[in-house]
Amino acid sequence: MTLKMTGTAASNGVGIAPAYIIDKPDLSFEKRRISDPGTEIQRFKDALNSISDDLKKLKIAVTGRLSKDELAIFDVHIEILNDPEMFNQVITRIRSQRINVETAFEEVISRVIHEFEAMTGNKYMQERATDFASIRDQVLAKLEGKQLPNLQAIDHPVIVVAHMIGPSDTSQMDAKFVKGIVTEVGGKTSHAAIMARSLQIPAIVGCKGVVRQLRNSEHVIVDGFSGTTIIAPEPNQVKHYQQIASQYAAEKLQWAKLVNSPSVTKDGCQLTISANIGSSNDIAAAVNNGADEVGLFRTEFLYMKSEHLPTEEEQFTAYKNAVEQLNGKALVVRTLDIGGDKPLTFMPLPHELNPFLGYRAIRISLDRPKMFRTQLRALIRASQFGEINIMFPMITTLEELQAAKKIYYDELRKLRQDYPHIGKKIKLGIMIEVPLAALYAERLAKEVDFFSIGTNDLIQYCFAADRGNASVSYLYQPLNPPFLKLIHHIIQSGHQHNTTVAMCGEMAGDRLALPLLIGMGLDEYSMSATSILRTRSMMKKLDTHECQQLYQEAVTKCETAEQVRELVEKWLITNK
Ligand code: PEP
Ligand code: MG
Repeated sequence: MTLKMTGTAASNGVGIAPAYIIDKPDLSFEKRRISDPGTEIQRFKDALNSISDDLKKLKIAVTGRLSKDELAIFDVHIEILNDPEMFNQVITRIRSQRINVETAFEEVISRVIHEFEAMTGNKYMQERATDFASIRDQVLAKLEGKQLPNLQAIDHPVIVVAHMIGPSDTSQMDAKFVKGIVTEVGGKTSHAAIMARSLQIPAIVGCKGVVRQLRNSEHVIVDGFSGTTIIAPEPNQVKHYQQIASQYAAEKLQWAKLVNSPSVTKDGCQLTISANIGSSNDIAAAVNNGADEVGLFRTEFLYMKSEHLPTEEEQFTAYKNAVEQLNGKALVVRTLDIGGDKPLTFMPLPHELNPFLGYRAIRISLDRPKMFRTQLRALIRASQFGEINIMFPMITTLEELQAAKKIYYDELRKLRQDYPHIGKKIKLGIMIEVPLAALYAERLAKEVDFFSIGTNDLIQYCFAADRGNASVSYLYQPLNPPFLKLIHHIIQSGHQHNTTVAMCGEMAGDRLALPLLIGMGLDEYSMSATSILRTRSMMKKLDTHECQQLYQEAVTKCETAEQVRELVEKWLITNK
């Protein structure tokens, strides 16, 4: 019987093929008392070394096929295997409790996994739980002499279905045969999702219970656009999705031709489509996908990956490296946006009841000016190697903005004593992601060269709905008419003072929002690299004046987000 299941859409595209369920061997074991701790400890060491060697070999074997980011995942796993703290905890248990290594190891690693899983609202940390879970399986399988599934053996088209997929699984996959991936756990930024996107395999993650609902070889459709899995589809559903798949394949071929084209509307209005990146490793993908610029460099990952506060030199090298890779294209760097769902290991932040409404982003930078100055100095120095523009996150009041600017100009002045012309071309901007800043955009615009609207946060604050909480995700409504009016207000306020207005939240890459945003006069659209060419292609077909009319109709005739969605869907069909 046909069954539809929903998960998180993690990688665009449609895949239709028989299911290949990744069955993990039974890794259960008995808790045993032991008399010789030395033997158990040696078994543990051998297992860790052997897996570490396997991972190193696998990493070398797949270098060239995977990106730097994907290869880095192997290092994360090797690091976990070599973690002295974990090692010591396990051997202490073996020695003091006289238990077998499987029991001691499982106890230690399960505690770590639970700690990460418990960090609800913090996707980054929750996804680290999957790294540890993958290590747990690898170590237990090695200790028990069992074989984990080998995806290299797949030699015919399949949809891979699994509870969880780790980097060692994905690196073995051949995109020629793996037509889709469905996992029960993971979010948009989990490793399975990242890998699937870069291998361009349609994928759905977080599709709870899917493994139990399927048999091996049963037909499955993966709709990576909407996150829908269809088990045992009807012939008409297969036909429908085959059409979508071939349409998408043809579209992708067309989009690829636009890599070096300008981002213009049908009536010749020149706009900018840029990429959001989390590290300089993402720049190649941004350039290959035709980004006009980088519109958002989220610098927090630089801090989150580090075990200490990154020094001025370390940051300078990272920013210089990034801007040099862009060969003259601009790089907008956001100063540290930590707190909320992004913690730092070396700088424990106070526990807060409402972290998203608490101590985060510019609030921390202003409270810890030494750290803020270090970042600004590194950025100003790196600006000698390309076009770097700087923006401050989470600005709420005029005073905050003026305080941040004062610190920036202080550092600029100091650096100019040695380098008189440094930082002349740097443009300063702010993220508009707090409702008060949106309402006060007219005044704030006088202070900066550009705005970048952070709709991910602006929506969560306007709708009072935690962006990480699935129970209130229905309130993520970028098309809600009063919200659209607020965006329009920000754009108009910016333009009154010659302030460029960009958008770097997810809404910028939203197919239905695009004509409305063009109608409102948004200048720059910053999004994930893989959305750029689709957006550029769509932009070419849109006429600014018609988009203005559509926007007016949306905010005068529609009363709900759903009505706007219907209006735009219809409009797009008739404007094809
Ligand atoms: C946003 O809030 O829209 C944004 C781009 O910033 P982040 O998602 O990093 O909070
Ligand atoms: Mg934000």
